[in-house]
Amino acid sequence: MGDYIVKATAYSDNVLAFSALARDTVQTAKEIHNLTPTACAALGRSLIAVAMMRVMMKGEKDKVTLVIKGDGPIGSIVAVSNFPGIVKGYVANPFVDLPLSEKGKLDVGRAVGKKGYVTVIKDIGLKEPYIGTVEIQTGEIGDDIAYYFYTSEQIPSAVGLGVLVGTDGNILTAGGFILQLLPDVKEEVVVKIEKSIARISSVTELLKQGKTPEDILTYIFEEEEVKFLEKIPLRYECDCSQERFESAILALGKEEIRKLIQEEGGIETVCHFCGKKYFITKKRLEELLEEAEGLR
Ligand code: ZN
Repeated sequence: MGDYIVKATAYSDNVLAFSALARDTVQTAKEIHNLTPTACAALGRSLIAVAMMRVMMKGEKDKVTLVIKGDGPIGSIVAVSNFPGIVKGYVANPFVDLPLSEKGKLDVGRAVGKKGYVTVIKDIGLKEPYIGTVEIQTGEIGDDIAYYFYTSEQIPSAVGLGVLVGTDGNILTAGGFILQLLPDVKEEVVVKIEKSIARISSVTELLKQGKTPEDILTYIFEEEEVKFLEKIPLRYECDCSQERFESAILALGKEEIRKLIQEEGGIETVCHFCGKKYFITKKRLEELLEEAEGLR
């Protein structure tokens, strides 16, 4: 079964729900970045979250970036979704290796750290992107995203994210859910949902039992009818290109390009998201300089 995300509603459309299966997506991230199990769990959870956040957005060209920057050894985590069902990301330190937590789990909280910020950048085609920043709560990512929604977007949410890594370092399963309460939701519904959430020991446990995203939402909402609205295939894919790299150079402006030509000759760069290498020769830089000077 390939990865996908479902969007659904429940309680007469007063609760919005998203759920994802993301094993292959997280496995691809692991292989690209050579992630340790702890780094896998941290980046994996972030990718699953950002994938669902993108599905919440309405415009075709909308983009969302999640940046988690704590004081832990993993450094910053960046997860991006520029299109529904397409994600990419990286962590500053993919080699972070910590002992299991007291509960015998991968210690994402310690890897991320307890002090720092969660930033969400939403580009919906306006002049300026929408940027929301909140303080890290636990560093476990799910809690932090829920806190972000509540504080920055005023949407009470429940977020469950899970990545299960096997003893050989490969991903056994990964996925998650986000529930959002809309403004008209009744108090009794809130109480019911809180009870259901408390019933789930962990989303990883549900995934381990082979539950699909549809199963997870049906389980959460119990007897309540869940209306499934959309099912979107999910994968890890980078959208970098020579053209994009060159336009980033162009955006530096003529002074910077001139400096690059003088100091570096040609330049080489590696895409953070997929590891692909790009080169720009001195000759090409000179062409870009002409373009920046408006001569072409
Ligand atoms: Zn790339």
